[in-house]
Amino acid sequence: MKITVHRGAEEVGGNTIELQSGESRILLDYGAPLPKIDPVTNKSVYPTPEEIVLNIPGLYADGTRPLDGIVISHNHGDHYGGLIPKPVDPAVPVWMTAAMEELIRISGKMPRDATELRATIKHYRKGVPFTVGAFKLTAYLMDHSAPEAFAFLIEAEGKRLIYTGDYRKHGNKRAAFQQFLEADLGPIDLMLTEGTQSTVLSGPTQQQVLQDIESLVNGREGAVYVMCSGQDLDVITSLSEIAQAHGRYLAIDGYIALVLETLKDQVKRDSGVELQIPGLGDEHLKIIDAPATAKIARHRQNSPPARVRRRLRPHAASPGGLEVGERQPQAANSGRAHLFAVLAGEIR
Ligand SMILES: [Zn+2]
Repeated sequence: MKITVHRGAEEVGGNTIELQSGESRILLDYGAPLPKIDPVTNKSVYPTPEEIVLNIPGLYADGTRPLDGIVISHNHGDHYGGLIPKPVDPAVPVWMTAAMEELIRISGKMPRDATELRATIKHYRKGVPFTVGAFKLTAYLMDHSAPEAFAFLIEAEGKRLIYTGDYRKHGNKRAAFQQFLEADLGPIDLMLTEGTQSTVLSGPTQQQVLQDIESLVNGREGAVYVMCSGQDLDVITSLSEIAQAHGRYLAIDGYIALVLETLKDQVKRDSGVELQIPGLGDEHLKIIDAPATAKIARHRQNSPPARVRRRLRPHAASPGGLEVGERQPQAANSGRAHLFAVLAGEIR
């Protein structure tokens, strides 16, 4: 087996790793480089399409044997973003979970140059071995800020390799990470692991951050604002619980609402499991009239199902929707006076 790290060894993100066994070649992730911070303006500088796209033989119908597939570990741009600026050869299947596909399609509605995911998508499932070319892969759920993130056991030529993707052990899915550690994976020849935080010896855990937020909320009047990724459902679920415990609204924009509703629907359809994340029917959840809500509502192509669209209308407790920061003494059907606003639609 031959391993080529095309990107991600010298920098954080942009992971693209090629595995070859005989004629068969696959990619593990095809990430876009992370934005860089301009030292003068202090603003994020996003990579150009030319900087994102890699010229790997067999990726873009270049007359060479097409790659046998691309396996995406999770729906963060630094792991799938290479797929977006230029569609890969339709003969190259791109493997991800059904939930990841939904989330990537929702993200495609939001960025400044909204670009749809155009690729031949195939779905893998947690714990169910699947074959891509000469490689047999098994996906293990990891704890990460993405709703779903996977490590893979990869087998070919009698060799056994682990690719971890991103992971941590202090989030809401820490039990999944523990299960991965305890799984009987047999002898492993090589592990390719993320090292983003490998030089950081300690830092606040997810629970400590949420405790800090809760102590800020405690006894405070008026709105509390939280800036986080709109797809970080660990944080959003915890914020919803804090809001409920403190008699507040959790105000979200249409982007987060669509993520919540789509994922809940998808997981229910796929596995019959009721995902324990906030639902749009929750009394303390309010969708506010933010720019992201307008963008989602305007989006006509691939629009969400009508049921979701109806619920995406901003709540009209006051004529223009709830006004963040204003008290709502006569808010319909509840004594919840304060907002707890998460406006994350523009943050990726
Ligand atoms: Zn990630």
